[in-house]
Amino acid sequence: MRVIREAFPDELAGNVVVPTMGALHSGHDALINRAVQEARARSAPAVVTVFVNPTQFNDPKDLDVYPRTFEADTAMCERLGVDAVYAPPVDAVYPPGVEIPVGDLPTIATEPGLEDHYRPGHLEGVAQVVRRLFVLTRPAAACFGEKDWQQLQLVTQMSANERLGIEIIGVPTAREADGLASSSRNVHLKGAAREQAAAISRGLRAAGLESTPELAEQTLQEVLREADIPFEYATVRDAATLMPPTPGSISHRALVAAPVGGTRLIDNAPWPWDGR
Ligand code: AMP
Repeated sequence: MRVIREAFPDELAGNVVVPTMGALHSGHDALINRAVQEARARSAPAVVTVFVNPTQFNDPKDLDVYPRTFEADTAMCERLGVDAVYAPPVDAVYPPGVEIPVGDLPTIATEPGLEDHYRPGHLEGVAQVVRRLFVLTRPAAACFGEKDWQQLQLVTQMSANERLGIEIIGVPTAREADGLASSSRNVHLKGAAREQAAAISRGLRAAGLESTPELAEQTLQEVLREADIPFEYATVRDAATLMPPTPGSISHRALVAAPVGGTRLIDNAPWPWDGR
């Protein structure tokens, strides 16, 4: 496996890429496995990028304390059959004196009132870095986790609208035994907070069994209230636009963002529940 820090070599173009911020955990396993599988099927290289993107942190303190575990990350990538890890310095992604465009944002990045509202600037930063990483790594396909549903829809729409010719592959959320979505933030959940956090996926599952999106939203909020979780949002939306469902909505998604024991968690699941 190659570790690339500076110029991304031409012979790796046409790869299947997984953009990450490193600190890889069991939740990234499925994502990387899927990319490796997809790459093998296309006889293309599998690439993981490790780049802690400063422009997507709305709180500079978060950026400072973001875990950096590069050696463990490369070991995991090697074990999973990745061909190259691309870990550029900040200057390679954002050359000094060059304005890297955020580009035109689809309304999903500004209107739903979900991550766009609670993490101002975050999705702009994501659009900017993904755009830039796509230019640098020249992939044929890119894998993103369903865990960050709004991000996945944003990148899918960006690639389609702008005819980037990059296939965006959404990978289902990897979960702990009790249903909690795997996340680097889970290490901060101590004792009672860890148990409390399981209510989020329980609520999503219960919502998924309801007969209408309205009842699903009520049930989701009830489960969170019973667990004393003061959510930012707990809602059922059109899965593609993330706006409130309309009679024309083809598929729906239940989405939650909630602080638990001081740690902000996000999760989502399809409504109706798909049994996963
Ligand atoms: P991160 O480095 O955590 O910002 O995320 C890198 C990629 O991993 C993103 O596409 C995330 O959606 C994805 N990801 C994070 N957690 C999970 C999970 N539990 N299951 C699947 N994908 C995930």
